[in-house]
Amino acid sequence: MKVPQFMSYVGDEEYIAIESCFKRNWITEGPKTEEFHSQLLELTGAKYGVFAPNGTLAIYLGLRALGIGPGDEVIVPDFTFLGSASAVEMTGAKPIFADVNRTNFQIDLESADKVLTAETKAIMPVHIYGTSVEMDDVLQFSKKHGIQVIEDAAQAIGVSYKNKHAGTFGDVGTFSFFADKTITTAEGGFLTTNDQQIYTRLRYLRNQGRIERGSFIHPEIGYNFRITDLQAAIGIVQLSKLNEIKIKKQKIYEYYKERLGKIEGLHFFEPNPNADYIPFRVGLLVENATEIMSYLGEQNIETRSFFYPLHRQPCFHHLVKDIENIDEKFANSEYAYRCGICLPSFPGLEISQLEYVCSKLKKYFAG
Ligand SMILES: *Cc1c(COP(=O)(O)O)cnc(C)c1O
Repeated sequence: MKVPQFMSYVGDEEYIAIESCFKRNWITEGPKTEEFHSQLLELTGAKYGVFAPNGTLAIYLGLRALGIGPGDEVIVPDFTFLGSASAVEMTGAKPIFADVNRTNFQIDLESADKVLTAETKAIMPVHIYGTSVEMDDVLQFSKKHGIQVIEDAAQAIGVSYKNKHAGTFGDVGTFSFFADKTITTAEGGFLTTNDQQIYTRLRYLRNQGRIERGSFIHPEIGYNFRITDLQAAIGIVQLSKLNEIKIKKQKIYEYYKERLGKIEGLHFFEPNPNADYIPFRVGLLVENATEIMSYLGEQNIETRSFFYPLHRQPCFHHLVKDIENIDEKFANSEYAYRCGICLPSFPGLEISQLEYVCSKLKKYFAG
């Protein structure tokens, strides 16, 4: 048996939806994009939204709409996908890393407090691994320090915190529809905001410095951050499956927990009790993670480590090189990387595959 880490949950319905764009002969942003847009606003409850080509560029666009650029600093959790921080670099601002908490690896505000400077313009809570950051605390923090909030909700579509959708608490929220996210458009991104001025800036920035297409007069400098109706067509079908995907992923998590939960020295990623949980990946924490991952690899089970701490990234050496005892400042992000294992947990995973993974893990721990 072979168990891959991830497989996209796309099929005939998505294929037929793309075909309908060809039949209508409309492939760029058009009726499908408009429909997907209003469905996403309905789902998130946000007032305004715009698409972006992917999640990384959605963050970049959001930061630019907040006026962030050279000379500014943005606090980013040390434990996240690289794109959260590279989008900050792209604006010319500096990403400044903060540690995360020990249970679900969301940004730690005590650590964030220590890296605040006069240049800090924003904080970026990243809703990591399918649950939400404790947003009440982030909003209190940002208010106290007079900084803006950009939420990276790339992994949190469908996830609410205290009955409000992730990504709608701060000044802007960003989403990704890459192939391995909860729902996909192959590549794609979305931004939400409740602020009309930010929304207007987003529209100018994403559409060549003008509001509508078809005019050659460009009042501002802007770029091309459009998507296509082909992607939106896939997105509409995916969104109709969101509840099904959520249930499947939660069942996979429950299955793993039931079969493996009692093993000593093995812990599961713990979602925020104030939020929903749509497992992005089922995360395990064990001391000998590297050994277990290679053991599972030998059994044709594909695992992934957790994220590599950003302060250790070779591409960010220039940001952290002079700091002493740097790893100690990021004890929890270090722990996540050292002990974390992502188990296969995609919606199409079969019971027989799940059972296979569990039996191999049980066998490993039985010695
Ligand atoms: C996937 C992801 C991104 C980047 O999204 P892309 O669409 O791949 O550019 C950013 N942040 C987080 C937390 C992600 O998981």
